[in-house]
Amino acid sequence: MNLILMGPPGAGKGTQAVLLVKQLQIPHISTGDMFRQAMQQGTELGLKAKGYMETGQLVPDEVTIGIVKERLKQTDCQKGFLLDGFPRTVVQAEALKGLLGELNKNLDAVLNIEVDRPNLIRRMAGRLVCRQCAATYHVEYNAPKQEGVCDVCGGEVYQRADDTGATVEKRLAVYDAQTAPLIGFYQKEGLLINILGNQKVEAVLQDILQSLGI
Ligand code: ADP
Ligand code: AMP
Repeated sequence: MNLILMGPPGAGKGTQAVLLVKQLQIPHISTGDMFRQAMQQGTELGLKAKGYMETGQLVPDEVTIGIVKERLKQTDCQKGFLLDGFPRTVVQAEALKGLLGELNKNLDAVLNIEVDRPNLIRRMAGRLVCRQCAATYHVEYNAPKQEGVCDVCGGEVYQRADDTGATVEKRLAVYDAQTAPLIGFYQKEGLLINILGNQKVEAVLQDILQSLGI
C-alpha cells in the first residue's frame, strides 16, 4: 500500500506510523526524522534544515522534495510506503503526484488524523524522542520505563527543542497556513480519510486499519 499520514504537529502521526509499518511491512518515511538525523550527523542537508526547524518553519520545498524523491526510488518502496509529515505544502503535493506518475505508482489513501488544539499542545509539550532510534514517548501518556532511557534501544530520550514555547505556536500557525489546504487537495482527489485522533493510541490504530479494510 502507498499511504500518506497527515495531520497537525503532535497529532500522533509518528506514533501510528511505527505501528502501521510493522503490520503492513512497508517502509516508514518521515521527513522530520530524516532532517533530525541529518542535523545530528552534521551533514549538508542537516545544516540546510537546522535554522528552519529550530524556528518552526518549513524547510524549503526544493530541499524536501529532493530527499523524498531519492527515498521513493529505493527498492524497498516497491512493496509500498508510508509517508509521515510529507507533503506539507500544495507544491510538495503536486511534486509528489508528478513523481509517483514517473515511477508508475498510485496513492491508495491519505489518512488525516484530527486532534483538537489543546490536546495537540499537551502532546507536543510532553513529547520525548529517542536520539538513537526516534522512538516516541510522552511524559504523561507513555513514559519510558526508565527515565531518560529508550525502552527499544537504550538510547538517550530527550525533548525536541521545537516542542517548547513559541515554536509550538509557530508550527501550528504554519500548519494552518501551509498544510491544512492539503485536506481539500486530497479530498478532491478522492483519497482523504479522516481519522478521529482524540482516542487512545490502540483505538486510533484500529480505526485506521478498519478504514483501509485491513
Ligand atoms: P506527530 O508525529 O503527529 O507530530 P507524535 O506521534 O510524535 O505526533 O505524537 C505526539 C505526542 O503525543 C507524543 O508524545 C506521543 O507519545 C503522544 N501521542 C500520540 N498519540 C497519542 C494518543 N492517541 N493519545 C495520547 N498521546 C498520544
Ligand atoms: P516533524 O518531525 O514532522 O514534526 O517535523 C519537524 C520539522 O521538520 C518541521 O517543523 C519542519 O521544519 C521540518 N519538516 C518536516 N517535514 C517537512 C516537510 N514535508 N516540508 C518542510 N519541512 C518539513
